[in-house]
Amino acid sequence: MNLSGCTVCGIAFCYEVLNLQTIEQALNKLSKSNFRSSFHLNAEQVRYVHEKGIDKIRTHAEDFVHTRLAPSSIPNDGRQTPMKGHPVFISQHACACCCRGCLNKWYKVPKGIALTPVQEAKIVNLIIAWIEREVT
Ligand SMILES: [Zn+2]
Repeated sequence: MNLSGCTVCGIAFCYEVLNLQTIEQALNKLSKSNFRSSFHLNAEQVRYVHEKGIDKIRTHAEDFVHTRLAPSSIPNDGRQTPMKGHPVFISQHACACCCRGCLNKWYKVPKGIALTPVQEAKIVNLIIAWIEREVT
């Protein structure tokens, strides 16, 4: 378990389950993709993160991942994550955690099977780590 925190809002949170090295490796790989690395938070989205605090953003990410990504069957898979709006949506595209197709392609997560709580937690940790980099 590692403790980290936003250097601006100062809220500490822990990267449980997925260690920083693994997040580091994932972010490093994503940074080599022209498409994935083209996503960034705009000024309004950065402000939103600081206003809400990273703990609140994390609960949003948990909710989005649980309801839009975790089910075994997702009728609109590939179109469930908007390209604008909530910072978590942007991070999902940047981290290839936007749909089950991308999760399968990038992380070999099998489609047609509900995500486990551990998988959900790992995805949320990656999404939050990306956002933290964008806002610091
Ligand atoms: Zn996708």
